[in-house]
Amino acid sequence: MTNYVFLGPPGAGKGTLAALMHDTFGHVHVSTGDILREEMRRGTDLGRRVKDCIERGDLVPDETIGAIVAGRLGQDDIRTHGFLLDGFPRTLPQAAMLDDNLADLDLPLTGVVLVEANRKLLMKRLTARRVCKDCGAVFNVLFSPPKQEGVCDRCGGELYQRADDTEETARERLEVYERQTAPLIEYYEGKGVLQRFLCEGDKHDNFKDLCALLDLQP
Ligand code: AMP
Repeated sequence: MTNYVFLGPPGAGKGTLAALMHDTFGHVHVSTGDILREEMRRGTDLGRRVKDCIERGDLVPDETIGAIVAGRLGQDDIRTHGFLLDGFPRTLPQAAMLDDNLADLDLPLTGVVLVEANRKLLMKRLTARRVCKDCGAVFNVLFSPPKQEGVCDRCGGELYQRADDTEETARERLEVYERQTAPLIEYYEGKGVLQRFLCEGDKHDNFKDLCALLDLQP
């Protein structure tokens, strides 16, 4: 059982790599963005509270997201299959919360992978991303388009563009990353657990390279 944090700017490929890790090795993929979007879709209290923040490209409060992650990490499947945290932590207080949480649950952190790509590619990936309304599958109209425009290959659902993937909001999210999340690089480097991974090519090649980096046999 291995447990990883995937750190890195929006559009770097964290979600795509985590989904492939889940499919191949069974890790539980914990994407805080997906959890919050699902709350918004269901129109829950939490979903309504975070909607504006997410659509502006800002971060939701640390306490809100910290409680969600603590609850999720406490579930049994995490202990059996290991976890991949995608999109958490995003601030230094969140990293401290995660340390406390893992200590309480007696869960080891195997490593932190810093997933990176050049800024031009990040913007391209974000603004060309389309997501299935029904199953959440992710496509990219430039790099991995669906067979039929606007229709999900996996389930036939309708594809949409996330409100925070427009050019202006994507730019804001990259700035938020630099200001609030990038300091975590030094934090995890200081703990000796950070590995850097450049994620710029084809997704299957990237996945093979990631497995090699982490010494995992697909
Ligand atoms: P993502 O899908 O990871 O790009 O997340 C989409 C949005 O959800 C972010 O821009 C934030 O508004 C919110 N979000 C996701 N994870 C966190 C987090 N760890 N802390 C604060 N806000 C988050």
